[in-house]
Amino acid sequence: MSAPFAPSEPVRPSAEAILASVPELAPYAREATVLEPRRGNPGPRDSSVGGPMLWPADEPWPVCTIPDELEPSGLPPVAMVPVAQIFAKDAPGPWWSDGAELLQVLWCPNAHRDPPEDQADGSPVVTLRRRRLDELTDARVVEPAVPVRHEEYGFLPEPCALRAGQPIMDFPFREVLPAELQPKLEELVEATGHGKGDVITRVAGWKLGGWPTRHLTAPMDFACTECGTTLTLLFTAASDDLTTAVVVGRFGDLRVFTCPADAGHPFVVDVH
Ligand SMILES: [Zn+2]
Ligand SMILES: [Zn+2]
Repeated sequence: MSAPFAPSEPVRPSAEAILASVPELAPYAREATVLEPRRGNPGPRDSSVGGPMLWPADEPWPVCTIPDELEPSGLPPVAMVPVAQIFAKDAPGPWWSDGAELLQVLWCPNAHRDPPEDQADGSPVVTLRRRRLDELTDARVVEPAVPVRHEEYGFLPEPCALRAGQPIMDFPFREVLPAELQPKLEELVEATGHGKGDVITRVAGWKLGGWPTRHLTAPMDFACTECGTTLTLLFTAASDDLTTAVVVGRFGDLRVFTCPADAGHPFVVDVH
């Protein structure tokens, strides 16, 4: 393969350039948007991490009663905390195909050792809301809640404004790909990363869509418990102790996988 990319700091080539180098990757391209948190004071109508959320006035705030490391009874309930609020206008993409205009991700900021099987072990317990904005005409603003039980480092996001980067095409880790494709992808990763990492696959950071990192475990698919469709990656919260103060797993990612056939079907959370 020729070396079409300039040798310097790794810069991610465009999807067109990636596919020109390895056309066989085309069926694996998945849209993604990297979300860039910046420490600040986001308002309730802003996309944010750890910020105030717009909440329907008649809807109770979610609480967690799942046993955690500190309280095996799960009681009293723990108020969930805002993790991310993302408006469709700020991060357009296929993840809004059900007509939702706002995604809200919350979690219980305690470590749960034996959570339900759709949640990640030793991690916060996640809940999602997908909303249309006309549901929010009589909305109230909910400030980040103060948890009643918390000992774990890294599960209380600092308030950050969220800016969405340009939509990109993400590509999977090479083990997901047919064996004959792997050397070509490896060559492209080396030619573009300049020894400083992989800028082609499993784009790092907080993001919507794209492919999950699988460097510690074999690729694993989750099947929808309602309809059997393979779940796809919706949302990634990445560890970053400087800006969001979120640290999950061993400085890893917490990911939410949802059903592409019906966004209302049950989701699965894992931590990598
Ligand atoms: Zn909990
Ligand atoms: Zn389904």
